[in-house]
Amino acid sequence: MDQALWDQMKNQPLLKRVSAEEEVIWINENLTSSALAMEKINITMDDILDAEARLARFAPFLEKCFPETAPSKGIIESPLVEIPAMKKRLETEYNTTIPGKLLLKQDSHLPISGSVKARGGIYEVLKHAEDLALEHGKIKVTDDYSKFASPEFKEFFSQFKIQVGSTGNLGLSIGIMSAALGFHVIVHMSADAKQWKKDLLRQKGAEVVEYDSDYSKAVEVGRKNSDADPKSYFVDDENSVTLFLGYAVAAKRVKAQLEEMEIPVDSEHPLFIYIPCGVGGAPGGVAFGFKQLFGDSVHVFFIEPTLAPCMLVGMASGLQNKVSVQDFGLSGLTHADGLAVGRASGFVGTTMDNLLSGIFTIEDAKLYDLMRDIVNTEEIFLEPSACASFIGPAYLMSHSETLEYLKSMGLEDKMKNAVHIPWATGGNLVPEEIRKQYMETYLK
Ligand SMILES: *Cc1c(COP(=O)(O)O)cnc(C)c1O
Repeated sequence: MDQALWDQMKNQPLLKRVSAEEEVIWINENLTSSALAMEKINITMDDILDAEARLARFAPFLEKCFPETAPSKGIIESPLVEIPAMKKRLETEYNTTIPGKLLLKQDSHLPISGSVKARGGIYEVLKHAEDLALEHGKIKVTDDYSKFASPEFKEFFSQFKIQVGSTGNLGLSIGIMSAALGFHVIVHMSADAKQWKKDLLRQKGAEVVEYDSDYSKAVEVGRKNSDADPKSYFVDDENSVTLFLGYAVAAKRVKAQLEEMEIPVDSEHPLFIYIPCGVGGAPGGVAFGFKQLFGDSVHVFFIEPTLAPCMLVGMASGLQNKVSVQDFGLSGLTHADGLAVGRASGFVGTTMDNLLSGIFTIEDAKLYDLMRDIVNTEEIFLEPSACASFIGPAYLMSHSETLEYLKSMGLEDKMKNAVHIPWATGGNLVPEEIRKQYMETYLK
């Protein structure tokens, strides 16, 4: 891009505020009807159903290998719970009212790896294992997949490698599941990855390679090493449709949970999903699933840290992954694990172009306050990045940009029927001593 155009873009009022590390509310002007948006996307509901069926095939294996999935018969799923005390707390703290219900989707408590990555990451490893087993005549799709837990299968998979670049949680999901299947798994970890995550991975049998630099470098080297080895498979967080579909299945599961709770979602009962965004795969996949299932009755907002709003700069400038937060003078360094990403996925940004309602940004210090709030009100521990989602309903009801959005969508009178779901993306595996440190961080 030439300098004049670049200067003009950077001087857009909203992007100037982003550069100044201010919190912003960005409403996506490219949002269209869901039906129209889906015409441009070549991923369909059938692809989500295919992913769901694959996860069901693997349930007997998961139940056998991971006894914590026994209550759900090998299905990796998390609770959806109403959090009325947190709702009151948010209303007081942000001086607003949140009409309708506030429910928490606790992917923080997903079995096996305790974060949203247990959806996409684990799904991609299972799909790769199935592809290899089918290709080598080891299995038929009609077989009982508890076979995957046998010593014979472990021996078979030990000749193959799986590699991934990660800031932590994706590495945990890929590492734990690949090692359980018998793969030689190598997790390339950026400098910001927490020590306890590296320790846990090594303990589970994964090889961990550490880098002094950020996530992009870990991904770059991981990809290069993997591509040079014909028996190695690289999990590409930025471009993987498989990963994306694993996340998208979440929407079907939530639909069933809402039905179970007798909570309607339709044109009179709008649904709002708020989900923290890093590179974009998890929130993008989840959002896509919801838009497929609920169309224009669901409104999805991403939340990013003010220090690393990569999806925001990509989508608001229209330049997607051609720009990074560093281009806007930001460090990309945030306390929010998993969200410290400088450049968003171009695939996700493009897919979300006509589907996403908007993006809010949040200061790091607030993450810790919200983390203490959810502990104190509901006795639920979440990691700080996951708590970004809580500003969703509070900001929706207290900013002129979002109130204008609700008005333009004809939603003002329907908000009393609204359902708000902040997505708690991680936290259950955080060790006790780290939780204590978090509880003291940015304490006023
Ligand atoms: C990875 C992660 C996210 C965001 O997912 P992306 O696919 O990177 O956008 C959010 N919260 C937590 C806790 C995560 O680990």
